[in-house]
Amino acid sequence: TIVVVGSANADLLARADVHPAPGETVLGRDLAVLPGGKGANQAVAAARLGAAVAFVGAVGDDEFADAATSGLRDAGVGLEALSSAGGSTGIAVVTVAADGENSIVVIPGANATVDAALVRRHAGLVGGAAVVVVQGEIPRDGIEEAARLAAGRLVVNLAPVIPVDLTVLRRADPLVVNEHEALAAWGLLDRDVDGDVDGEVDGESGARAGAAGAPEAEIVVRLRALGVPSVVLTLGARGALVGLGDDVVHVPSPRVEAVDTTGAGDAFVGALACALAGGAGLVDAARFAARVGAFAVRGSGAQPSYPWEVDDLP
Ligand code: ADP
Repeated sequence: TIVVVGSANADLLARADVHPAPGETVLGRDLAVLPGGKGANQAVAAARLGAAVAFVGAVGDDEFADAATSGLRDAGVGLEALSSAGGSTGIAVVTVAADGENSIVVIPGANATVDAALVRRHAGLVGGAAVVVVQGEIPRDGIEEAARLAAGRLVVNLAPVIPVDLTVLRRADPLVVNEHEALAAWGLLDRDVDGDVDGEVDGESGARAGAAGAPEAEIVVRLRALGVPSVVLTLGARGALVGLGDDVVHVPSPRVEAVDTTGAGDAFVGALACALAGGAGLVDAARFAARVGAFAVRGSGAQPSYPWEVDDLP
């Protein structure tokens, strides 16, 4: 099985012509309440493609808990390890303007309770998984505990970037990152080599280490040299680079008409985990994931745009 340890949100999506300026009220067109959160998105992507998936996470006791978990339920994701915390479910309040640009307020809510103690309560599940998947939308000690408990393959999607213990990055097989996240991870690992203490985390720390303007393949090579077992660097429409052993392999993405790239990265990670759990090698898994990522940009929203059938992939 695949065990995803991560976030689940209800996404409240308001469409309007323009974003309201501070202090301003604008009329919107409509509101959609959709299941989201990186962890849930990734679990749904993997389960829809046929993988056996369990989710370790938490929702609140409010009216948004159902919305946050509806996609997981529909996809058949195991929810034995879904906790119900008091208080609010994780919420993303998204305004989409006519030009397609988003502005987003995220309230972590119950996702903030997915800490080491909660993860440890599901030690058997996490320890027994063939593939464990983590991202950056839960507390860092929850991620670190999941990495410690994982006896199978650990997939780390460092999105958003948070300063996790470097042992997590050194166990990541693969670390899945876009370019911004890759530079930040480089900064974290490089600072450790320099003996510096944890500081701010962003692309600039990588830039300070000389990463700014580094060709993408060089970033992959550097991350590998700093102790990351394998790396998948996603490149949007250009697909991904896979770094393992001495090689950096480019995996193209099928050319598609992009409607909405929301959740494409999560579709990629879920599909990658699905293929790895099925026994594929990392390059083949990334090839498959790039097709699933491309499928996901053809439709609106995150989970609603994910495929159910491998036959439908571009
Ligand atoms: P993120 O959203 O996390 O930055 P990317 O933009 O790199 O991630 O997208 C993840 C994957 O989704 C890519 O590797 C690719 O397979 C697919 N993808 C994203 N945008 C496009 C696009 N415009 N056309 C085709 N595939 C895309």
